[in-house]
Amino acid sequence: MTTPAEDLPFRVLPRLGPDNEHFWTGGLEGELRFLRCGDCGYFVHPPSPVCPRCLSRRLAPEAVSGRATLHTFTVNHQPWYPGFDPPYVVAVVELPEQEGLRLTTNLVGCPIEEVRIGMAVRVVFERRDDLAVPLFEPDPAAP
Ligand SMILES: [Zn+2]
Repeated sequence: MTTPAEDLPFRVLPRLGPDNEHFWTGGLEGELRFLRCGDCGYFVHPPSPVCPRCLSRRLAPEAVSGRATLHTFTVNHQPWYPGFDPPYVVAVVELPEQEGLRLTTNLVGCPIEEVRIGMAVRVVFERRDDLAVPLFEPDPAAP
């Protein structure tokens, strides 16, 4: 499903560079990618040139499953940007690949009154020109 560009909400988009390009462009191929240490296997997010666990510099992007649980959230009611209309859910999701591997994102496709900490979610990408913003929605495959 693709939303026409004129119907997408306003977003502040990142400037792409060698340290973050894997993250913001992975969704163009349907993949949520994080840097992973080639020596100890630790996922590093936000991106860093050095593994914080073993100090290796052998980091490379790797796709994760895209499934997650809602770690915490808040509902924004303040109209900070014209065209990005409240209310919307600012969420922190935790990925099952590694304890503490978390991502700040928006939860979409879910009535606000049904949002619950611990709910199963999955990634969905909002395509913007040369990048794709990873958002999360309720996971229909969750038990
Ligand atoms: Zn490491």
